Amino acid sequence: MIIAIDGPAAAGKGTLARRIAADLGLAYLDTGLLYRATGKRVLEAGADPEDAAAAEQQAWALEPRDLERPDLRTDTVAQAASKVSAVPGVRAALLDFQRNFAAHPPAGAKGAVLDGRDIGTVVCPDADVKLFVTASDEVRAERRFKELQESGADVIYARVLEEMRERDARDRSRAVAPLEPAEDAILLDTSALNADAAFAKALDIIQKK
Ligand code: C5P
Repeated sequence: MIIAIDGPAAAGKGTLARRIAADLGLAYLDTGLLYRATGKRVLEAGADPEDAAAAEQQAWALEPRDLERPDLRTDTVAQAASKVSAVPGVRAALLDFQRNFAAHPPAGAKGAVLDGRDIGTVVCPDADVKLFVTASDEVRAERRFKELQESGADVIYARVLEEMRERDARDRSRAVAPLEPAEDAILLDTSALNADAAFAKALDIIQKK
């Protein structure tokens, strides 16, 4: 069983995907981490994330331990991730790993949950269930703002909102694998739902499928 969960930044995809995977005994892959780790490597190499050749080179050089880094969740890395992810060569370099994870989930799991931007459209177009998780810009920015505040970061709500909109706009408008719901995706708007309610709705959708 393969479950694809896509949606814009801070829509709650990760929390939801992790819970679904744990509940159904499936493996979980946060595909955003691949792009974040690539962006981080480009920054560390002193290159520009919009430099296609540098970004592609770092994507091919990615190693499993790059995904374990504790510093991938910052907004600087998120912006770099969004820039490298618009490079077609970067997406090509990361595609096989994601498809392979879905086809052969680790630790004998019966299937996999992948979350990202293009799982239902490109990575796993034949997924058994496709969810497109959204929430209003303000709700998403508020959630992200609280998360950053709780981690001790010195943040301004308006700046979080602006950066999130900028990243979503870039992700939606890129030529290759843009952020968009697959034709057969089911929309789940979590603006008025807490994590428990979103999980209950998602499980209901999965069980009906
Ligand atoms: O999901 P997360 O916010 O960690 O993703 C970081 C960035 O990686 C996104 O803004 C997007 O540009 C890119 N991404 C992507 N395709 C995916 C997952 C993430 O382009 N499947």
